[in-house]
Amino acid sequence: MNIVLLGPPGSGKGTQAEKLSDKLNLLYLQTGDLAREWAEKNKRIKSIIESGKLIPEKEMTAFVMQYLEETVPPERDILFEGFPRFVSQFKSYQEWLTKRGKKIDAVIFLDSSEGAIIKRLSARRICDKCGEVYNLVTNPPKNKRVCDKCGGRLILRKDDNPDSIRIRFKYYHGNTQKLIEYLDRKGLVIKVNADRPIEVIFKDILKKLGVKSDRN
Ligand SMILES: [Zn+2]
Repeated sequence: MNIVLLGPPGSGKGTQAEKLSDKLNLLYLQTGDLAREWAEKNKRIKSIIESGKLIPEKEMTAFVMQYLEETVPPERDILFEGFPRFVSQFKSYQEWLTKRGKKIDAVIFLDSSEGAIIKRLSARRICDKCGEVYNLVTNPPKNKRVCDKCGGRLILRKDDNPDSIRIRFKYYHGNTQKLIEYLDRKGLVIKVNADRPIEVIFKDILKKLGVKSDRN
């Protein structure tokens, strides 16, 4: 099963992506990671990322397609997060899968309001030593200032303040929203309410995909 996971920044995409790829044995790809890898080999890309901008649409598409071709074994299915962001990227990805005799089986959209995202991201803490991510509400550490794993200091990321979040949300809406509307018209989007606890969202996704969840 090839899955695309979409949603605004702070909707919990990373968490659900990890759980889903574990459960369904999918290769989890995230454009953020791919772009950082690329930036290590390319100074121009590095400066684009460091300035907080997005890599131009077509260039990103070409890079991702080449990456897929070179690294993904033919039999492996993919869970993609952060890509595609645009209709053109969706079409390119679909074409690439078609060549392998596959298709995008599901597009999951984690739906969340700006207010809920501001609340969630304001409670997010990151370890300044090992990078482990916590949330004081949904995934709290034992001590709210100390990392459970390494004892490092837990800090609020600079761009997790309400003003930055609003800007990111607006930027997201200007881009991905069009793709979601396009896919929605084709009846391809599975919408999931992301303003709920992690496990509840996960079970809802599995149910909508027609996959049995473990009883516990
Ligand atoms: Zn740590």
